[in-house]
Amino acid sequence: MQEDNLLDHALVRLDEAAAHLNIDPDVIEKLKYARETTKVRLMIRMDDGSRKSFLAWRCRYDDTRGPTKGGIRFHPESTIDEVETLAFWMTFKCAVMNLPYGGGKGAVQVDPRKLSKAELERLSRAYIQAFARIIGPDRDIPAPDVYTNSMIMGWMADEYAQIVGQAEPAVITGKPIALGGSLGRGDATARGGYYLVRDLAENLGLRGSMRIAVQGFGNAGQHIAKLLGADGHKIIAVTDSEGGVKSEAGLDVDLLIATKNAGKSVASTVGKSGHEFLSPAELVGVDCDLLVPAALENMITVENAASVKAKLILELANGPVTPEADRVLATQGVTVLPDILANAGGVTVSYFEWVQNRQGYYWSVEEIHQRLQTIMEREGRAIWDIAQDKNVTMRVAAYIHALGRLAEAIEAHGTQSFFDS
Ligand code: NAD
Repeated sequence: MQEDNLLDHALVRLDEAAAHLNIDPDVIEKLKYARETTKVRLMIRMDDGSRKSFLAWRCRYDDTRGPTKGGIRFHPESTIDEVETLAFWMTFKCAVMNLPYGGGKGAVQVDPRKLSKAELERLSRAYIQAFARIIGPDRDIPAPDVYTNSMIMGWMADEYAQIVGQAEPAVITGKPIALGGSLGRGDATARGGYYLVRDLAENLGLRGSMRIAVQGFGNAGQHIAKLLGADGHKIIAVTDSEGGVKSEAGLDVDLLIATKNAGKSVASTVGKSGHEFLSPAELVGVDCDLLVPAALENMITVENAASVKAKLILELANGPVTPEADRVLATQGVTVLPDILANAGGVTVSYFEWVQNRQGYYWSVEEIHQRLQTIMEREGRAIWDIAQDKNVTMRVAAYIHALGRLAEAIEAHGTQSFFDS
């Protein structure tokens, strides 16, 4: 998000994959640009009676394979470039998992930590008022992303229902269970990555207990630490935006989660349970077996890629490794499980939520976990096989896998289609 050419970076992956497939150039031309991106200014009343405006976007990048799907991010540094890039990644992520969706994304340029709860609710409702004509259960389906959560999705679903005059739960996913949310959505992103690592561990030469470093300790970071920690692996380093901690003996994950729930940085646990201070900048170079970026984009760059000591990177964040850094990691023999596969558990359970909303019949958490595991393992193994066959990285293999499906759908629509415009 800090770089203004994030989409250009992302498109490098498209070209890399296309080089391995016999693809019609029309397909590449179509996938190089967002289909539509709408920008608005949201005006809300602040608690002190003043009015304040916030920039907001919604992007529908490509809808060839189905309605667009993608989260809404609340972040002070969000830009249109970031939104379109995230929507591009969603297009490929949904294709990787063979979900019947295209890719979308939204954002509001705001620091939500500076708003009261009532202001946050007014802002969330204003977003839906502005984009009600763009979204819809068969058109564009938002979900949570960085600094948005199920409470915000609940307000947004409620606002949409008021506008259309009836409950329409399938318009948004990541809702509270009481409003039609799915069991298992909370930890779905991390759980998908967890199933993937567990299934490919043998192929990756990882046996026994791993030493793990986690960058970012929100939804994705906390859940992966919990899931892998419960399997006997050691979480030895964790950071958030304000600081970090390390412990060779293994960090106390429950203490870290309780600290975050109390609204404090993980760094405030220094001195407790043997936790020592670690600066956020040091995390990437921590000596470990598995590195899990679970914060934001562009965290592993040419500047710090050579310092990576992990054998495996699980990209729970979107776009944490730049294309230049990817090349450095490949020469060092580091395997990267790429974002469009590794963090696709979130959108997959969002898809389950949408299916359950539409059929009005709800699944048990065991059914959710089983279905998620089946899809993660199926697509993970398919991508592993492509990587072996073509002697490419898992990232290039994932893009080849997705691009093949996108090209097939684009061609199947025909050249006079509405979807071809
Ligand atoms: P979140 O808001 O719950 O947590 C983000 C965390 O990153 C926070 O702990 C924050 O302090 C930390 N952070 C921010 N800047 C940092 C920095 N410079 N160094 C270290 N930590 C930093 O967000 P989340 O939902 O966990 O999402 C994290 C990443 O995972 C994002 O890239 C998001 O797009 C991606 N992702 C999330 C989901 C999901 O379902 N939550 C799904 C797919 C992808």
